[in-house]
Amino acid sequence: MKVCIYSRISENPDGTSTGTARQERDCRELAASMGWEVARVYREDDTSAFGTKPRPVFEAMVSDIKAGSYDGLLVWKLDRLTRKLKDLATVVDAIETGHAFVRTVEGGINTANGGSHLLLTIQAAIANEESRNTSLRIKRKHQELAENGMHSGGGTRPYGFSADWTAVIEEEAAVIRNIAAALLAGESTLGICKRLTTPTVSGKPWHPTVLRKLMTSARLAGCREYKGIVYQSESIPAILDMETVERLRVLFRNPARKTKNAFRNSLLSGFVKCGNCGSTMHMKALPQGKEGFRWACAKPPVGKGCGRTTVVNAPVELVVIEALLHRLDNPALAEAAEGADTSRQSLGAELVAIRERSASLSQDHYVNGLIDRNTFLAAYEPLKARTDHLESLLAESPVAPAVSEYEGKARILWAGKTLSERRALLGLLIERIAILSFGKTGRNFNPERIAITWRF
Ligand SMILES: [Zn+2]
Repeated sequence: MKVCIYSRISENPDGTSTGTARQERDCRELAASMGWEVARVYREDDTSAFGTKPRPVFEAMVSDIKAGSYDGLLVWKLDRLTRKLKDLATVVDAIETGHAFVRTVEGGINTANGGSHLLLTIQAAIANEESRNTSLRIKRKHQELAENGMHSGGGTRPYGFSADWTAVIEEEAAVIRNIAAALLAGESTLGICKRLTTPTVSGKPWHPTVLRKLMTSARLAGCREYKGIVYQSESIPAILDMETVERLRVLFRNPARKTKNAFRNSLLSGFVKCGNCGSTMHMKALPQGKEGFRWACAKPPVGKGCGRTTVVNAPVELVVIEALLHRLDNPALAEAAEGADTSRQSLGAELVAIRERSASLSQDHYVNGLIDRNTFLAAYEPLKARTDHLESLLAESPVAPAVSEYEGKARILWAGKTLSERRALLGLLIERIAILSFGKTGRNFNPERIAITWRF
């Protein structure tokens, strides 16, 4: 049997490194013990298995294997070959074409007894990798990759940052923080774009696509994103905290978002519910000659309600606004909000931590081969379930409103807000407005018919 050895210096996660000499020696020992002839040793000087730098030795090895030059390939550990799952697929392709096997000293990979297993494992890992590209994953201190993954320079600078990404432009950072708060408060991207008065970097007006791209960028949390993986950067200052960016990403991934933020033309649309049956009340025109409209519980086929409740909008709106402003003026609100904020932040922090654990677990299983499939699944599935649970909790948990600025001057600030901002503010504090019906409905307005369910 004729085999080749591939070796590459690599930093271990604990900071130690395994030199090529040791890798080569261990591989040779393995070959000797198996009675294999080592036909060639491929030594890579490049220390990066992540980066975009070409690795000529790796390429040469792959094409030699493909050409059928060897019966097998010995590597000290699979991550010496590459940490890029797509490169692993290249290797798999080469060993299949060249009818060779791969054997590692560490990590127990041996395609000679069950090549298809490796293939499946790798394919699963690739699928896994790609499916997670949309989620935020953090790996700390991968300075090397961060350097490779650096922006290529040139082009326009990103909004909020200097051209080299190392300094924050404060006026723009303030706009970013404002947009983040508005998005998390449920304001639509279109509504936000319409009210932004300062232009984008290119000088063009804001567009929802631009806004979305900006607000889901890992850069905002002082990170660099490279091929779907997020790395903490030492040089990029953070404008938002990680938890906020995480939450924004969850928000934009939510398919319900589009309908939820559909254009609304009334302050209370969607909030007004029938106190009798609980269904959302519809807007209905008032009789000819009267201004405004009323809310009506609609029976099928128009709605899903009981059809027994109706109320004129204007006085309801007044009562709700007064109650809202009163709440905003009150210092007790800020305290309640702070408590909610703390719990939401801990949800976010747990989510980030669990994603990291899942990622390192996958790395241990798929790449390093430290744990077998059953052990991996036993550990991974609860993490996955917890991730899904946390994501839904986070998506549903009330956003602690940043409302301290309203204390004592709610009325003045309210007056300066657009409809979309007002709706967002309302949604922060109010979950629903139930319209109760006492006997004969709709005739006389009575403030006691309004029951507001507060979030805060
Ligand atoms: Zn009803």
